[in-house]
Amino acid sequence: MPQDTNRHPLPADFRWPDGIRAAALFSFDLDAEAVMLGDHPETGRYLDVIAHQRYGPRVAVPRILRMLDRLDLRTTFFVPGWVAETWPDVARSVRDAGHEVGHHGYLHESVRGVDEETEVGYLRRGLAALNEVLGIRPVGYRPPSWDINYRTPGLLAREGFRYDSAMMDSDHPYRLATSPEPGAPTLIELPVHWSLDDWNRYNYVPGYTGNSPVGRPSEVCAAWAEELDAIVEVGGLFSLTMHPFVSGRPARAAALERLIERAAAIDGLWLATGEELASWVETLDLPPVLHEPPVIRP
Ligand code: ZN
Repeated sequence: MPQDTNRHPLPADFRWPDGIRAAALFSFDLDAEAVMLGDHPETGRYLDVIAHQRYGPRVAVPRILRMLDRLDLRTTFFVPGWVAETWPDVARSVRDAGHEVGHHGYLHESVRGVDEETEVGYLRRGLAALNEVLGIRPVGYRPPSWDINYRTPGLLAREGFRYDSAMMDSDHPYRLATSPEPGAPTLIELPVHWSLDDWNRYNYVPGYTGNSPVGRPSEVCAAWAEELDAIVEVGGLFSLTMHPFVSGRPARAAALERLIERAAAIDGLWLATGEELASWVETLDLPPVLHEPPVIRP
């Protein structure tokens, strides 16, 4: 079915490859313990919290890799450097299954309120860890917790990244400016949204995050399917962010597998990795979008 571009016009100069009308990125952020240690260092002393997080590398990643293999889907895992160092065999199993590995901080640090030197330090320590453990230089970056500063795109370009995946201001990928200077480097932005994150649907760590009761997998995946259909309708990017320790539990993984099967059956929907999407969008002559702080006049 062709895109109804009268009803849902695509952004200026944006198009998908021939025969494609929308795309889907089923990505995983392999946070493990790092997401709790980064935000709440005291949780390192709480075995209950740490064991909850270790479900990801111990049980969920192998289950998800088996599922993705059954589905013949190659996707993107964003891996904090500390997680790669702490769980090297797990990180290598992701790489060796053919998935893209992206950068996700070192210890899942938020960059809110930190100075530039500190932020660059997180980027470089994460890069060094992924190089040491996996022998890779990632091209994609997903900021821990999607926290991003106005200077971050410029830092990413300087470190050789080609795409970022953090922002919520578009249904479609776009070209991200790093500076107002003409000819300055650009990145590709692969947008995300809270509605397409497993964290707030399922995750519950008493005292730290979420609410009880947690979401029912069939209902969560029905909500995501509704989002998927609407995004396909507007010719956008369905970008689902998941965490192995969250979505890799049996009923959740089973519902997710049905959702991916449903997506794979949609005519003209491209199930891609972040790098594949960025490589396509780089070929388009899109006007760069520059993000600057809002101006409030006195
Ligand atoms: Zn994360």
